[in-house]
Amino acid sequence: MTAPAEFEYDAIRLRGVSLAGEESYIVAPEMNLGFDIGRCQRDVLGVDHLFLTHGHMDHAAGAAYYFSQRMFIDNAPGNVYAPEPIVEPLRRLMGIWADIDGHEPPANIHPVAPGQDIPLRRDLIVRPFYVNHLCRRHDRSRVDALGFAAIEVRHKLLDEFTGLAGNELVDLKKRGVEITRRVEMPVVTYCGDSADGEFFDLDYVKNARVLLMECTFVDRDDRERARAGYHTHLLDLRGILPRLNNERILLTHLTRRTNLRDARAALKNELDASMLERISFFMEHRRRPRKAAQPGDAEE
Ligand SMILES: [Zn+2]
Ligand SMILES: [Zn+2]
Repeated sequence: MTAPAEFEYDAIRLRGVSLAGEESYIVAPEMNLGFDIGRCQRDVLGVDHLFLTHGHMDHAAGAAYYFSQRMFIDNAPGNVYAPEPIVEPLRRLMGIWADIDGHEPPANIHPVAPGQDIPLRRDLIVRPFYVNHLCRRHDRSRVDALGFAAIEVRHKLLDEFTGLAGNELVDLKKRGVEITRRVEMPVVTYCGDSADGEFFDLDYVKNARVLLMECTFVDRDDRERARAGYHTHLLDLRGILPRLNNERILLTHLTRRTNLRDARAALKNELDASMLERISFFMEHRRRPRKAAQPGDAEE
């Protein structure tokens, strides 16, 4: 298994693996949540809330194993939130594993859709949104992939009350006066697999402090391939990045055929220097980067 990368920025910590076709998951341990499941490495077992973007195997393979291991290590069952059309097949999968394994662990699998925020804590919600990635079921019905924004919710005192003492504020509250306003602060937004789309213009995407977006292909020859698979090509970033205000942008889902050094070089060649400051490949953030590429790195 590929060793996870770990990215830290302020109090935001993200750990995971993201390689196209092989495995994609990223957890935010302090927020007790994860995006996608991959093959369910240890990091994934440690969080209670997993947000699955779509059903492609590199993102979803570990779902049954997650519930099984959570039972095995005596943890609460945990929660997987998935696009509505794949919830029933996931539940069926749990049943099939019960036939094979002899045990059926408890599994909380929740359908989610854009327009329905998922509250995790009083001050933290997760908001699903549609991205631009096609995933078809065997009956050829279309399943739209989702992205997810982790949003901190604060209640800030309204300006007209800032000078008041604590007991005066309590009095106002008792009388039913609204003294605060709700403020949303998108912290981390994960776009999963996706080609360019209007979702980049959503406030909680373009203004998230950290944005995780895919860049699967970097070779100029792969542009058609990117388009056919509803993926993002490095050259597409020229049209996307100027729309984004994120403090940090992490590129995920690089194909196995491209090693990180070449990808970094391509980024420098193809983008303006001003765009490069806040952007990196997620998998560059490994604690002990290997000095030389391993033989397997060159293949998909
Ligand atoms: Zn993928
Ligand atoms: Zn995919």
